[in-house]
Amino acid sequence: MPDFDLIVIGAGPGGYVAAIRAAQLGLTVACVEKEDVLGGTCVRVGCIPSKVLLESSERFVMARDHLAEHGVVVGDVTLDLGAMMERKDAVVKSNTDGVAYLFKKHGIERFTGVGELRGRGHVVVHGADGEEQELHAEHVILATGSRVASLQGVEVDGERVITSDHAIALQEVPKHLVVIGAGVIGLELGSVWARLGAKVTVLEYLDRVLPTMDEEISREAKKVFTRQGLDIRTGVAVTGTKRTKQGVTVSVAEGDAVKADVVLLATGRAPNTEGLGLEAAGVATDAKGFVTVDERFTTSLDGVYAIGDLIHGPMLAHKAEDDGVAVVERIVTGHGHVDYDLVPNVVYTEPEIASVGATEEQLKESGVPYRKGVFPYQANGRARAIGATDGKVKLLAHKETDRLLGAHIIGARAGDLIAELVAALAFHASSEDVARLSHAHPTLAEVVKEAALAVDGRALHI
Ligand code: FAD
Ligand code: NAD
Repeated sequence: MPDFDLIVIGAGPGGYVAAIRAAQLGLTVACVEKEDVLGGTCVRVGCIPSKVLLESSERFVMARDHLAEHGVVVGDVTLDLGAMMERKDAVVKSNTDGVAYLFKKHGIERFTGVGELRGRGHVVVHGADGEEQELHAEHVILATGSRVASLQGVEVDGERVITSDHAIALQEVPKHLVVIGAGVIGLELGSVWARLGAKVTVLEYLDRVLPTMDEEISREAKKVFTRQGLDIRTGVAVTGTKRTKQGVTVSVAEGDAVKADVVLLATGRAPNTEGLGLEAAGVATDAKGFVTVDERFTTSLDGVYAIGDLIHGPMLAHKAEDDGVAVVERIVTGHGHVDYDLVPNVVYTEPEIASVGATEEQLKESGVPYRKGVFPYQANGRARAIGATDGKVKLLAHKETDRLLGAHIIGARAGDLIAELVAALAFHASSEDVARLSHAHPTLAEVVKEAALAVDGRALHI
């Protein structure tokens, strides 16, 4: 007899949500996690700590540079980095404790150690003390997530050449931080340290920042971040780093090397499969190391499933959570599905950047006829009131049917505004549907409504 109905390996947003949903549906569940705390990359060293530091550093800049415009005079504003980091750690702890509480509430049995798959329904837990524990279950979900991908010639030492794991815990503000990669991590954590006083240079291999985003939005983003003081150099391929007495030298394919005090490697993440025993157990991976699954999240080994950053699709916490729910519902009810075309993408910089659905480039490439509606924050009363006039909402709708196909926002609270458009796309709404909805005044959501009106050339406030 198996010990459990389900064993989940990994307690990130994919694994812990899968465990909770399985318990809700009446399964007996074990979850194996190698770290002492639950929550995975997202809670420990990803989404949560980075968002705490983005918020704190934004408040620092607000107090230092902008409160006086509101007639609020605070005198000299100084940084207490230690206190900022303590608060970040406390928020992370409240979240990891929260997951532990949920495990208790749902009767999920937790095993601390490295999980290794030994075949269908068979997992060995390697404890820190060298002890091994055998677990058996009918189903096994692999949810071991991802780690920072290495870059040839760049040796991470955690001190001068760092990853996001270290960049959320620096003890002092570097004089000159060079970021390799103008993707999400590069721009979010580059913004944090620039706001706290570092000179920040971002070196990006491609010709624009956030290369997977809609091009018009990514060009606007570069302008705004450059205005904020980030030195963004595109079309620059980093070939290596070398430690010197004073710091680090970053060599690039063409042109002069760049000198830095600290270098942040932010060129992507890779699936965590090391030590999982996949090959021996007969679980196939693709050329990039991602576990291959079918539409039921089943791997090449029956009864073994994989989700989250470990498989294809955007490496996002909410996508991992959606995978977690869908795989368990598939196992228990036979149904469960994730629409990967409707997973929103949010960059939590200032301003925020958010998108869902097709980009303008994708529509052009696939020959889909479309109309475009764009509305600037500048023309919105609430944006003026809160002093957040940078940015725009851009909507793309089918030229003949008016069905919304894509939504792209750069501007304050873009990450919250995108939710309306995810719903609109999911329910196959037209731009006219959104334009006819009552949007409270004065809110930033009115920029969305005006962009929807603009698709038909009838925006009211411009
Ligand atoms: P993970 O969260 O990586 O969890 C996997 C877990 O498995 C880990 O706890 C790991 O310790 C454990 N594990 C690994 N191997 C084993 C093993 N053999 N045995 C036992 N346990 C094992 N996404 C967003 O949506 N929004 C954001 O704002 C955001 N910000 C981010 C900021 C940073 C700096 C980073 C690095 C990532 C960010 N992400 C964000 C991405 C997000 O963190 C990931 O997409 C998400 O955590 C993936 O969830 P997961 O459950 O698949 O894997
Ligand atoms: P990324 O894929 O977003 O960006 C990596 C960037 O590095 C790309 O723009 C790429 O062109 C560039 N690059 C690659 N090789 C280079 C080289 N040799 N020299 C210069 N530039 C080079 O990866 P990331 O920023 O490391 O983030 C990893 C993952 O974490 C992403 O998939 C993202 O989804 C997730 N994440 C999400 C959030 C969020 O949702 N807000 C925040 C952080 C991380």
